[in-house]
Amino acid sequence: MKVLFAGKDIPVLGEYEVVVAGAGASGICAAISSSREGKRTALIERYGIVGGNLTSGYIGPIMGGTSHGTISEEIHRRLKVEPRKVHNFEQAKIELALLLQEAGVDLFLQCSLADVLMEEEKEITGLVLATQMGLSAILGKCFIDSTGDGTLAFLAGASYEYGRSDKLVQPVSLMFILGGVSSDAIYCEGVNPDVHVPSGNFIRVCEEACEKGILPPKVNTIRIFHTGSPNERMINATQKNYVDTLSSKSLSDAEAKVRKQIQTIHTFLQTVAPGYENSFIQGSSSTMGIRESRRINGEYILQDDDIETGRTFSDVVVHRANFLIDIHNPDGGGQAEGVTKSAQAYDIPYRCLVPKDVKNLLIAGRAISGTHRAHASYRVMNICMPMGQAAGIAAALCVESGVSPLDLDVSVLQDRLIALGVDLFSDDQIEYPFNPSNREV
Ligand SMILES: Cc1cc2nc3c(=O)[nH]c(=O)nc-3n(C[C@H](O)[C@H](O)[C@H](O)COP(=O)(O)OP(=O)(O)OC[C@H]3O[C@@H](n4cnc5c(N)ncnc54)[C@H](O)[C@@H]3O)c2cc1C
Repeated sequence: MKVLFAGKDIPVLGEYEVVVAGAGASGICAAISSSREGKRTALIERYGIVGGNLTSGYIGPIMGGTSHGTISEEIHRRLKVEPRKVHNFEQAKIELALLLQEAGVDLFLQCSLADVLMEEEKEITGLVLATQMGLSAILGKCFIDSTGDGTLAFLAGASYEYGRSDKLVQPVSLMFILGGVSSDAIYCEGVNPDVHVPSGNFIRVCEEACEKGILPPKVNTIRIFHTGSPNERMINATQKNYVDTLSSKSLSDAEAKVRKQIQTIHTFLQTVAPGYENSFIQGSSSTMGIRESRRINGEYILQDDDIETGRTFSDVVVHRANFLIDIHNPDGGGQAEGVTKSAQAYDIPYRCLVPKDVKNLLIAGRAISGTHRAHASYRVMNICMPMGQAAGIAAALCVESGVSPLDLDVSVLQDRLIALGVDLFSDDQIEYPFNPSNREV
């Protein structure tokens, strides 16, 4: 079977009921949830690994709090996540792929979303993928954008916001792990003032090194986390500001720069921190991490006030979301709002997952509809996963009842989430592996 795209017949790789673009934290949960609801589900991923930031992004620990009973708990059990520690990325690559297989999801790896097929205005009929054989299509009825960047929504014509009012976004970073570290060597989860090295307070020592040019420009904060091995440390420190996260040229320049910084930061740690002398660079993310890009305009835009006052919504689909308002300074090093600014456990309403301008599309993950500051809180993985779960079930319900996401009866979605064990209305807050109140990522 072939379809016409841009004047050419291109092959159709499959026809599905629900098609999810992006196999990261939210996309995996969306695809599993849709497939478990009995809908033929395809998951598209540009890399050869599923997990997005959870795996190829080398990002952990999984942070943020929510209410009890979400799919995130299942993922934690499956990945054997230890409290306050970075999960094992290699294990996660295998387990997440198995989980998708068990759920019956059809996976299309090494396929980059390149464009969309639109039958009539505002309705997507298929995704155009860049594959080894050139452009190919996957057809579907309902679609979920979990690319993190809102790429599918953008291609389908959705409007979006970008960055703060001056259009700057949070800096990009490339994560790496050091091996061969002494088990008693320092770690510093975020900006922890109690960590000391022989030359002084670790935070101050890093800031001075940055001022003197020993550390790269704006790299004045080195966040160090434990992994499952006592002799490893995960380092979240490289950074490049003023990157246009929607420009290939800007991304490409930044990628090269942050990778170069790894060596400098490693040498610095070897010099100032006892226990790092014999350490080595054990691994790094295959691509730098993007904290912020498009935020697709939805039926509701989650406001600063909503997360600061812990607002509840009658169309809640993620309950008691909770994390810092964690803005890595778009215009400098460290955090833009200090380290103590925390949100109050808040609801994410279904309308934030429903884009304004496209009929049969839902958004899950960091590209949902919210302000720059709200995004800085809900972007963490433990909050993105339940968004995926809600979007996956919503898409399945839309297909079943033949309605668009905008017309879905949210109470049916909520009933289904509750039947699966998700707490949407109580005051209980899960004590998630990581205390959400005071660590920045
Ligand atoms: C440097 C850094 C450190 C962070 N630290 C933490 C932390 O410690 N703890 C925490 O919980 N959160 C952390 N975060 C935030 C968190 O990792 C992300 O916000 C979260 O993973 C977003 O989930 P997502 O599902 O929206 O996107 P992602 O997890 O990024 O997944 C998106 C997926 O879509 C795929 N994709 C994108 N475009 C296409 C395309 N065109 N075609 C096909 N596939 C595509 C990607 O390859 C990826 O697999 C950090 C983020 C960064 C950048």
